[in-house]
Amino acid sequence: MKVKETTAVFYERSPDVSRRLRNTAVTAKVSTGRKRSIDTNGGSEAGSKEKTANAVRTHRKRQVKEIVNNEKSQGLKIIPLGGLEKIGMNITAIEYDDTIVVIDCGLSFPEDEMLGIDFIIPDVTYLKDNIDKVKGFVITHGHEDHIGALPYILKEVNVPVYATKLTLAIIESKLKEHDLIKGTKRKVVKYGQSINLGCIRIEFIRTNHSIADSAALAIYTPAGVIFHTGDFKIDFTPVFGTPIDLQRIGEIGKKGVLALMCDSTNAERPGYTMSEKTVGKTFDSIFADHSKQRIIVATFASNVDRVQQIINSAVKYGRKVVIEGRSMVNIVTTASELGYINIPDNILIDIEQMKNYTDDQIVLITTGSQGETMAALSRMAASIHKKVFIKPGDVVILSSTPIPGNEKSVSRVINELSMKGAKVIYQDTHVSGHACQEEIKLIYALTKPKYAIPVHGEYRHLIRHAEIAELMGVPKENIFLLESGDVLTITEDKAEVTDKVTAEGILVDGLGVGDVGNIVLRDRQLLSENGLIIVVMTLERGSNQVVAGPDIVSRGFVYVRESENLIEEARDVVEKALDKCLSKSTTDWNKMKTEIKDSLSDYIWKKTKRTPMILPIIMEV
Ligand SMILES: [Zn+2]
Ligand SMILES: [Zn+2]
Repeated sequence: MKVKETTAVFYERSPDVSRRLRNTAVTAKVSTGRKRSIDTNGGSEAGSKEKTANAVRTHRKRQVKEIVNNEKSQGLKIIPLGGLEKIGMNITAIEYDDTIVVIDCGLSFPEDEMLGIDFIIPDVTYLKDNIDKVKGFVITHGHEDHIGALPYILKEVNVPVYATKLTLAIIESKLKEHDLIKGTKRKVVKYGQSINLGCIRIEFIRTNHSIADSAALAIYTPAGVIFHTGDFKIDFTPVFGTPIDLQRIGEIGKKGVLALMCDSTNAERPGYTMSEKTVGKTFDSIFADHSKQRIIVATFASNVDRVQQIINSAVKYGRKVVIEGRSMVNIVTTASELGYINIPDNILIDIEQMKNYTDDQIVLITTGSQGETMAALSRMAASIHKKVFIKPGDVVILSSTPIPGNEKSVSRVINELSMKGAKVIYQDTHVSGHACQEEIKLIYALTKPKYAIPVHGEYRHLIRHAEIAELMGVPKENIFLLESGDVLTITEDKAEVTDKVTAEGILVDGLGVGDVGNIVLRDRQLLSENGLIIVVMTLERGSNQVVAGPDIVSRGFVYVRESENLIEEARDVVEKALDKCLSKSTTDWNKMKTEIKDSLSDYIWKKTKRTPMILPIIMEV
């Protein structure tokens, strides 16, 4: 019965498989035929037809079952549900038989034309459709593009979350905000430790990155090992902890790696990424050169090692530290509770206490290094911060490089700070958290993968990464530049993209998840570029005579008080359009609205070369 069910499922899925099944059934018949003859010859009183028939049936059943089991293993599937094409929204499903393990669950930030959108989360329809198989989320590190969508996705795909200590703590503070902490199973995994999820085992391996506790994953599947680097760099002198576990990566490589999924962010950059420690030296010299001034340092909240180094310099040069910005306060608190940052007693002071100290006794560590409008540094630059006022002589260090897309806002903040007389320093005050070309090559040299799947990067980065992979000996046909939604199936003899699943991002605006789609976005773009004209009129029921109006109201189109003639003429145009409808005895309001819209937009275009959105409203009395 069980066999039948499975067969049926496969029949539905793939006629090809069923054909093969039928063929093998024939084979089974033939071979059992031979077996029967052996049986009859060998057995005493071998004539018992029934016995033989039973034996044949059982045997065939067993063989069919074996074949079904073999067929059932359609191989290993790697399905990125996001994270390719652009930076952000990393999430990849690894599937083998009845097991799906999901690597990361990040969000991404909107493009400029996605007006009003706060962020984008992955579409996990595929996971929901296969919910029985999904065993858990395995998270590489605590950056938003790897964990940010978890609170939204866990509401639909409630499976356990596995991560290292700091990563899980950052996730937990998010889950608390969304009241999900009770309903979510969570487990801390240490470096070197493995977890078993269905038929897949996952080992966490230490890496270095711009956030502590980052991990690479060795994913042991029945088809072979996938090595997933997560975001990484090779830092031989990290600020916290020890260097990436190259030794272990080499051991795994020695045993054979089927596929390597490796970070591509810096694949265009030659050489090596500098150690985080080099930034500490720069801080020291800036502190030494500006011993009289107040120092403000803006950096990523999650870069705990960077914050540590600023604090180290502060201690060295006898300054107190103020931490400003909500996310900065949150992460520093979590990190110091868990022992990932070491802050000596009496170094931190409250922002309110700042007035009790002179400029040369203060360092402010703040968010806003990306020019984010609402972040503390932007508010200081725009003079709308309640407690910190930029004054001539202040030294502002931007300890970051702009993420692609943020260049303009960062530039604006630098301009505003400079206009207020602050000295803004942004040279050598940052190192990347991602591997450059030579580091990527090292990972290839250690793992020697059969297949290469460049991940984490825009298309241009993936392309460069593919070149590196080829240079490192991976045959071109074994390198896969996947698109989000591609189903890469790896069987014993080959790998190919066999299917495509839904993987468009879902837009989040305020509390609305997915309720803003293309139509709403198009309206927002139209409104933002051309404004809106509303035509209101009241008609008498039955006769359709105009009782009141038409009145014309506009927003974002022209300043009405200075365009009285235009509006007056527009009203005439609307009246004419109405008369035309009435003379043709058109009483369908939709037709009337269309007539008004068309003639008004013609007129407006002729007069202004603009195309505002026109919204006729007809009321009835
Ligand atoms: Zn990332
Ligand atoms: Zn990262």
